Amino acid sequence: MHDLGLFSAALGLGEPWEVVGVQFDAERRRLDLRVDFRKGARFPCPECGAAGCKVHDTESHTWRHLNFFQHEAYLTARVPRVECGEHGVKQVQVPWARGRSDFTLLFEALVMALAREMPVKAIGGLVSEHDTKIWRIVHHYVDLAVEAQDLSGTGRLGIDDTSFRRGQDYVSVFCDLDPGERRAVFVAEGRDQQTVEQFAGFLADHGGDPEQITEVCQDMSVAYLAGVREHLAKAQVTFDRYHVKQKLSEAIDAVRRAEAKRHKELLKGTRYLWLKRPDNLTVKQLDWLDQLLVQPLETVRAWELSLKFDDFYELGDPAGAEEYLRRWVGEAKDSELEPLIKFAEMLEAHWEGVLRWHRTRVSNGLLEGLNSLIQAAKRRARGYRSARNYKTMIYLVAGKLNPGPQLT
Ligand SMILES: [Zn+2]
Repeated sequence: MHDLGLFSAALGLGEPWEVVGVQFDAERRRLDLRVDFRKGARFPCPECGAAGCKVHDTESHTWRHLNFFQHEAYLTARVPRVECGEHGVKQVQVPWARGRSDFTLLFEALVMALAREMPVKAIGGLVSEHDTKIWRIVHHYVDLAVEAQDLSGTGRLGIDDTSFRRGQDYVSVFCDLDPGERRAVFVAEGRDQQTVEQFAGFLADHGGDPEQITEVCQDMSVAYLAGVREHLAKAQVTFDRYHVKQKLSEAIDAVRRAEAKRHKELLKGTRYLWLKRPDNLTVKQLDWLDQLLVQPLETVRAWELSLKFDDFYELGDPAGAEEYLRRWVGEAKDSELEPLIKFAEMLEAHWEGVLRWHRTRVSNGLLEGLNSLIQAAKRRARGYRSARNYKTMIYLVAGKLNPGPQLT
């Protein structure tokens, strides 16, 4: 049991460190390993690397290590402070932990591996540590990985907002839309114009250049658009087709709601019949829809217009698509359905960016995988009332950053 050399080897300890004591407490389910440096050992200065610095004094510290089966394992060691002729008295960096952490690198590596797969709170429960301590580890490594990003190749950008805390607070997610990347590269608090300015600064600090962003895909938000015009001056904007479609869905729903006041019996419980595509409805729902379609309802007319609008995105040639959309806008405006007229006017006000989809084919929905990852991040950050935690989860889940300690 007490083959100390074996424990030293298992921990990967090398000169001058070795395990000098092992205490096993079956009742408390705890394994304590005492680590010490060889007497008379000298250390390099942590500041300049100058070898052979004499130990000035030591301070005892304990780190949580990976469990030994069902037993919590702890390392305790005297951490030396050395005296460098140049830098004075400095604390030595031990090889099994970083800075002031209370955990070994291997324990932190385990936490980071788990954090990719499960909520932080659940990790806390699994390893019997308070989740604020787990968050501290996750923040540390995610921050490092975010800062280490090289954005010199980022040229096509997707911007989208996502809310936390029941839609009260927002963060803006900036994604590299390059098919080889498709990942969140920057997350900012809020969804105003300044978030774009922050992104441009971050880009410049990470090897990129705001002038090299040539394509931006975003919703029809005035704030993002103003930010892009000002801070990403070379970018052409495509309005994300899923957001455009969402605006149309809102318009159809507004028509239905208004009409339901007059035709309560007919329209009760029909909301999703009009918002889903027919091929996504069940046979029963389709039968119901068929019965409604023969009625002289405004909702039916709005729905028919929405199906026609969907075809705009199916057309092959950009010139034909523009012609098609122009006719559709005319029809919508003649419909006398106020929400549809407003939608048509919004399309006219965003004309180039809506049409541009036919040239770029970029959309944030192209990243539907990414959207679902961001939803997963939201679920995992749930219960944590801070934008910081939510941002970190987005980076962790949708950033493809692979954060964690460098183990040798
Ligand atoms: Zn030094």
